[in-house]
Amino acid sequence: MLEKIVIANRGEIALRILRACRELGIKTVAVHSSADRDLKHVLLADESVCIGPAPAAQSYLNIPALISAAEVTDAVAIHPGYGFLSENADFAERVEQSGFIFIGPRPETIRLMGDKISAITAMKKSGVPCVPGSGGPLEDDEQEIRAMARDIGYPVIIKAAGGGGGRGMRVVHSEAALLQAISLTRTEAANAFGNATVYMEKFLENPRHIEFQVLADQHGNVIHLGERDCSTQRRHQKVIEESPAPGLSEKLRKNMGEICVKACKKIGYRGAGTFEFLYEDERFYFIEMNTRVQVEHPITEMVTGVDIVKEQLRIASGEPLSSQQKDIILRGHAIECRINAEDPATFMPSPGMITRYHAPGGPGVRVDSHIYSGYKVPPNYDSMIGKLIAHGDTRESALARMRTALSEIIVEGINTNIPLHRDILKDAAFIAGGTNIHYLEKKLGL
Ligand code: ADP
Repeated sequence: MLEKIVIANRGEIALRILRACRELGIKTVAVHSSADRDLKHVLLADESVCIGPAPAAQSYLNIPALISAAEVTDAVAIHPGYGFLSENADFAERVEQSGFIFIGPRPETIRLMGDKISAITAMKKSGVPCVPGSGGPLEDDEQEIRAMARDIGYPVIIKAAGGGGGRGMRVVHSEAALLQAISLTRTEAANAFGNATVYMEKFLENPRHIEFQVLADQHGNVIHLGERDCSTQRRHQKVIEESPAPGLSEKLRKNMGEICVKACKKIGYRGAGTFEFLYEDERFYFIEMNTRVQVEHPITEMVTGVDIVKEQLRIASGEPLSSQQKDIILRGHAIECRINAEDPATFMPSPGMITRYHAPGGPGVRVDSHIYSGYKVPPNYDSMIGKLIAHGDTRESALARMRTALSEIIVEGINTNIPLHRDILKDAAFIAGGTNIHYLEKKLGL
């Protein structure tokens, strides 16, 4: 097993990784910006290193600072968490070239999946169903582009090959708007991602977002841990996730899981990963692969009993997966609410001092959060301050436990989206299950 690792992240995921390390007897090095000295995992880690000032570009995204932190502490590996450098192939490469283990896939795989066009091409070759579309970059031939869009059928969506975080996409409803939309998306993509390449897909009007979790070790073993329904979104950002996906048949789950496992074997995948799909009329369409641990991994842990972060650490140390596919049985239902420091109505970030905090508890309730009374949420980073997770034998019981937990939790001093979660958990359509990706925005009148 790895002796000591650097946790190259902050907030709840850094604490989550630290906990997994403690269980496995791995020593931890917390790296933090000067704004994050009081983070819970920094206080709990065996060692800590300040890697720069508050702006992420100078700290959490500072590759030389992260590598020197590993060097000076004699760590053997780096866990990138999610966000920041977790899907940066150059970072993974630098980590490995410097003689450390990158806790994630091989740099080539990150690069392959980081470009959405090469990802789609690889997935198609591996038999994964994709959204009908250009399948490759849009060239300059206007006639050809018009013909392609007609062929695919309106509405279509123009997407940046290097896009991410729900940015770099534009929906087109008619031919009159097509060429301008492409040129606008190109310009935006060049500015935001340094890559002007765009492609075209059929725009699915009322899909759900359903994703499959996979784990692959370095001995050729690959398993899937079922799916998560992440359709409750605002501005393409997930707000609530649940597992399993309401109404998904066992047959389709098994079929899709097997397709993902096969694709992992084909591309030589290593580590934890997620295949994201849009799901409409009982059909799955691949949109992208995330080559890292995800925010919503706990719901999968609750229904499968597999500790995904511990598996990541085991895989990185060269051990085989601790379960086989036949051992994976989905038990009950789990749901996660992302708790953000933001105004529940305007969604404006609300950093500042948490004057009082009370965490909920009880059977089936899990809180993944780094906050405490007296903790000051800095204005510099993502507004997520924790995740509330509830598990029950049935979806109904998971929802009841979540409602109870939401009624108990107290976070004072800053605004949070807890009132929004309380509202959603009372919504008839949400309770019925299977709402699509537009449900939340429509409910909010956006
Ligand atoms: P990102 O990497 O920016 O998250 P994705 O490709 O994962 O981009 O898409 C993010 C979201 O955009 C999806 O969850 C979905 O809501 C919407 N979306 C993307 N592609 C399509 C499509 N072809 N049809 C309808 N909605 C789409």
